[in-house]
Amino acid sequence: MPPGFEFVSIGLNQTVRYVQVNRKPDLAIWGELVKHIGGCHCGQVKYEVEMNLENAISCNCSICMKRGSLLDFVPEANFKLLSGERDLGDYQFNKKRIHHLFCKKCGIMSYANGLSPDGQKMVAINVRCLDVVELGKIKIKEYDGKNH
Ligand SMILES: [Zn+2]
Repeated sequence: MPPGFEFVSIGLNQTVRYVQVNRKPDLAIWGELVKHIGGCHCGQVKYEVEMNLENAISCNCSICMKRGSLLDFVPEANFKLLSGERDLGDYQFNKKRIHHLFCKKCGIMSYANGLSPDGQKMVAINVRCLDVVELGKIKIKEYDGKNH
């Protein structure tokens, strides 16, 4: 369990729910880390990730536009690849800062590896690739990746 969080319940689909200790009532949802299972379409690539799924980014850069992905970023420690490491292809372009990892069998990019501006290893989760996700409850932020 992440430090500063307490265990609350295990939900549907074995979703593990944590809540931040000493949270303020008005911050009730913010900081809630839930364990999600995600992966590619054919099932070769599978991962678990702890994230709060409050927000996701809709980016207009050249690859996000074509892929239609919605991304949220988590520290590498919150992410665990369960299967499919050998089935992953790595696509890089432009400054080659991000590893766009896709399943060689079905082609789906369910996550990517990269660095945060301060150099921390981050994983970009394609939230559309989580097994259980209610897109209508996620705040989608537009990000102008085309001009960054
Ligand atoms: Zn696949």
